[in-house]
Amino acid sequence: MPGVIEGAVCAAFCGAGALMAYGVRGRSATLFAPSVYRGPAGRRSIALTFDDGPSESTPELLEVLSTQGVPATFFQCGANVRRLPEVAREVVRRGHEVGNHSDTHPRFYFRKPEFIREELARAQEAITGTTGVSPTLYRAPFGVRWPGMRQAQEQLHLMGVMWTVIGCDWKLDAAAIVRRVLPHARNGAIVCLHDGRELEARPAVEPTIEAVRQLIPMLKGEGYRFETVSQLLCPTN
Ligand SMILES: [Zn+2]
Repeated sequence: MPGVIEGAVCAAFCGAGALMAYGVRGRSATLFAPSVYRGPAGRRSIALTFDDGPSESTPELLEVLSTQGVPATFFQCGANVRRLPEVAREVVRRGHEVGNHSDTHPRFYFRKPEFIREELARAQEAITGTTGVSPTLYRAPFGVRWPGMRQAQEQLHLMGVMWTVIGCDWKLDAAAIVRRVLPHARNGAIVCLHDGRELEARPAVEPTIEAVRQLIPMLKGEGYRFETVSQLLCPTN
């Protein structure tokens, strides 16, 4: 019966591999760290989220959001906050929520728990020290969760946030970003976009800003309102 046994071993191994891959990258997975990827379905609200900032382009995005009266959530990298502290502060001054997106945006595959903890802790320190606000939300760089992340999040009291739809805005033009996001608009949706590009200085995020300029009135036209992730998850009204 070697064939059967090999088959069974292979199935178990492949099953473990698939589970591992899902645990690491699956948007709804909570195997390695707790996270959410959507808000309540009964609430006609959407949360726009922006990762990898602050960047030199963040102020332009803030203008678009202010003009439309839309609050958002910015998952900032500690290294970018140290590079552009004034921009990081302006995000908070405008009434947006800030979350932790690690310090240097590493890939956490095969990293030790201490490395993960240090990355999250350094970002938390940079954001809190610069903006005066201590994040309660965390988004994993590249959406990668890894053993050790759960403990790091618990120590820093961070809830993980994935997304309902990701705009792939690092590679699409504005029209394509809009086409990608719109069909996923639904009650409680969390939309992932980027106002930076990892730790790059002066990243090209114009397509994102133009897409946001177009998306907001379209979604308002469908009856949605916009909330920060915390407002969406813990409604007070
Ligand atoms: Zn990122």
